[in-house]
Amino acid sequence: MHINGDFVRAADGRTFETFDPSTGERITEVAHAGAEDVESAVRAARLALDGPWGALPAVERGRLLGRLADLVEANAAELAELESRDGGKPISATTSMDVPGAVAQFRYFSGWPTKLEGRTIPVAMPDTLCYTRPEPVGVVAQILPWNFPLLMTSWKLGAALAAGCAVVLKPAEQTPLTALRLAELVVDAGFPPGAVNVLTGAGETGALLVDHPGVDKIAFTGSTAVGREIGAKAGAQLKRVTLELGGKSPNIILADADLDAAIAGSYQGIYGNTGQACYAASRLFVHRSRFDEVVSGLVERASNAVVGPALDPATEHGPLISAQQYERVRSYIVDGVASGATLHGDVPPADPSGFFVRPTLFTDVKPDMRIAREEIFGPVLVATPFDDLSEAVSHANDTEYGLAAGVWTRDVGHAHTLASRLQAGVVYLNSWASGDPAAPFGGIKSSGVGREMGQEGVESYLESKTVWTSLASQCLHTS
Ligand code: NAP
Ligand code: MG
Repeated sequence: MHINGDFVRAADGRTFETFDPSTGERITEVAHAGAEDVESAVRAARLALDGPWGALPAVERGRLLGRLADLVEANAAELAELESRDGGKPISATTSMDVPGAVAQFRYFSGWPTKLEGRTIPVAMPDTLCYTRPEPVGVVAQILPWNFPLLMTSWKLGAALAAGCAVVLKPAEQTPLTALRLAELVVDAGFPPGAVNVLTGAGETGALLVDHPGVDKIAFTGSTAVGREIGAKAGAQLKRVTLELGGKSPNIILADADLDAAIAGSYQGIYGNTGQACYAASRLFVHRSRFDEVVSGLVERASNAVVGPALDPATEHGPLISAQQYERVRSYIVDGVASGATLHGDVPPADPSGFFVRPTLFTDVKPDMRIAREEIFGPVLVATPFDDLSEAVSHANDTEYGLAAGVWTRDVGHAHTLASRLQAGVVYLNSWASGDPAAPFGGIKSSGVGREMGQEGVESYLESKTVWTSLASQCLHTS
């Protein structure tokens, strides 16, 4: 792990293994952080904040973030390969999306430190200067999932460092490697020791961090179950918290949509990253007049999908992350068939030779089926026809989640009316999963609390301090 600018072993010597999901082979052994290591990392972060990191002028924080962006870019090929090996993400995606996306995040956030300004408040009291100062929240614990390890690390880290916070970051146990390599680049960029610490470990490491009294804020991305637990603890301890959780996002295709674009976008929306995305377009609603055409378009594309090992440049869809995730996704497909829905595609074998699952689609789906309600986090789509728009909206909003929603139509009136009526933190019109470091991202309802990226993202790492000054005894009264 990486504490106070150095690679260190766990204080108690514990380690765990990380595997290549494409082959099942062990890549390496990684330190497993326990209570003592959490203590050291939080202390290092606090010392950095109270010392050299906290004292750095805003313009220097920005310069360091810019250098980090350049270093990630200079090491892009290595990072892409590491990400593909550790997380099973196709090399075509890590090369074209994850790593350039991380560069863009650091570059975007490098501009923020010099733009964080307070305000002068026109208070009623005479001879008084009242102003606000944006200040870093403090020591931040960032807990990450395995589906977009480097990209999510970059937007969490970029925002926190721009705001001047010190960070203790815990990558998912399945994908610790790019965060560790990034920690080296953080040092090379010139960040003072302790500004960024990376604790590799398991869920218990994350829980120790959440409970540590020296942590001022928790930023978590992962399952809704763990998010609820963290939110409850943060509430009890009155720590700041942002939660980016699960989804079961509705994607609506209207009768007038450009069907080629809608099919291509909807396909990518659910099957991209092998369905392992919080924003996955996992519930499809199509106007009845176009339903068969859309379903057959998707099924045809799915039947030609290139599913394979992450390092093969031809691979479109890599493996699922782990045996556990494979079994979870398989059990949902089995359950969908048992509950009477029609499966287009195959039930994955119970005794597989890898964690590969081809894209699947269900029709004849009832709204109360588990496959229609629960986040599967795999390449499984449920498709349902609708007759009118209000029916589509009520189906779309009939979920505990509220992360993303999408609409495909040529009618701008329908598009923006639906954008206002869909309960989601992000709405995609004639697109899916568009993203930019400047655009806020996050969910409502059980999909989370707060926003990441953009101005909202930086502000979530700031506290506003109000400063009152009496000018009464000064020059005006003495003259
Ligand atoms: P998870 O358990 O929520 O893990 C996310 C992160 O939290 C990991 O770093 C994990 O560490 C850590 N963690 C686990 N338990 C914790 C606790 N009690 N306190 C603090 N931190 C804790 O998610 P998962 O097990 O990897 O995946 C399970 C399901 O979550 C998936 O099937 C999917 O439905 C959902 N998920 C959603 C997202 C998303 O983007 N919203 C991402 C990934 C998964 P370890 O890695 O060591 O467990
Ligand atoms: Mg791995």
